[in-house]
Amino acid sequence: MKYCNYCHRMIKPEKKVNYFILLLLTFFTGGTWLFFYAIYYFLFKDPVCPICGGKSFLDYEPRG
Ligand SMILES: [Zn+2]
Repeated sequence: MKYCNYCHRMIKPEKKVNYFILLLLTFFTGGTWLFFYAIYYFLFKDPVCPICGGKSFLDYEPRG
């Protein structure tokens, strides 16, 4: 769990996938792009807050 600087609460950061784009590109490229997307997903895609979509986290809940 991480502390979201925008929501001011503990949340679990998630890597969100746009499934519409995923299906669309799979349809047009026959699935070959999935290989590249997998690399992008695991190496470069930032986890975001599931509530606000923010990317600013702390490892603990600040006191005071
Ligand atoms: Zn948030």
